[in-house]
Order: sequence, then C-alpha cells, then structure tokens
Amino acid sequence: MGKIWELLDDPETVLVFDIDGTLISYNYGEYRAHHELDNESTEEEFKGIDIYNGCRGIPVIREFLRGRDLSRVYCLSMEPHEHDASKRKAIHQYYGIAPSHIYLVADHSEKPVVLTQIAKEWGEGVKVVFIDDNSTVLRAVEAQTPFCTAHVSIFFEDRECVITLA
Ligand SMILES: [Mg+2]
Repeated sequence: MGKIWELLDDPETVLVFDIDGTLISYNYGEYRAHHELDNESTEEEFKGIDIYNGCRGIPVIREFLRGRDLSRVYCLSMEPHEHDASKRKAIHQYYGIAPSHIYLVADHSEKPVVLTQIAKEWGEGVKVVFIDDNSTVLRAVEAQTPFCTAHVSIFFEDRECVITLA
C-alpha cells in the first residue's frame, strides 16, 4: 500500500492543490459531466463568462483542510481564460486559502517550476504533496521534481476498508 496518507496527514507537509477538477467540480457545461477547459477548441465557450460564480467545491476536501494551518496550503492552476479574480475569490470563500497562495499559470507545463519555487520558500527538506486530477500533469511533476503527488480521487477513498480479493 502507498504511504501518501502519512504525508497528507502530517501538518508539516506543504499541500499544493490544482483547482479545476480538484478543488472545484468540473461540471461547467450545462449538461456535461466534464468539460475540458484545457482544450483550445472549447475555450471560446467560456471566454467572458464567470464560470466560478455558481461553481461548487468539494466538501470532503474542505473537511480535510478544516483546522489545518493554511499557511502551508497553496493552489496551482492553469488559467488561460482570464478568470483569475473570480477563481481566487471562489477558492478563498469556500476553502479559506489565501488569494496570495493561489498561483495561476498560462500552461500546465509551468507547474513543476512554480512548485519548486513554493518549496524553496520553505527551505531544504520540506515535504510537498501536489494534488491534481490530470494524470499527465502528475507524471510531469514526478519526472521534473522530487515532490510527492496524489490524484484527487484519494480524498474519496474509504480509509477504513481495504478491498482484499480472495
Ligand atoms: Mg485539473
């Protein structure tokens, strides 16, 4: 079994969350369960629309962060659609994460660099876990940084029951 929960539960660990599909539900389309904002072809649909006004957070993650030292909690999200202000506001309102801790980048490829910068602020030996819903981004972070990663689905797993197959 993985040991990632040991790190996630450690109050000393610096946590860095993606936003879309991780801290905010990805149900932006009217009847779509998943709308890939990363896709250039769908970009125009959301330009000029404040999709974070009316968005929904993830209660199990808000509960996980309750009582946590939020000075050790960050967000790192791709935001090429000019939603910076409303995105920061929505995250702060629902999770309490400081707007100054919300880093928005133009492309996923910048995430490993920004993660490294965040870790540097805490000094050598800091434990960092990056949480994202995109496995390609997680793989890039694993390849380019020494930090641990978790897919957002870990927060939905049953910590009391391990499925053992006979
Ligand atoms: Mg995402």
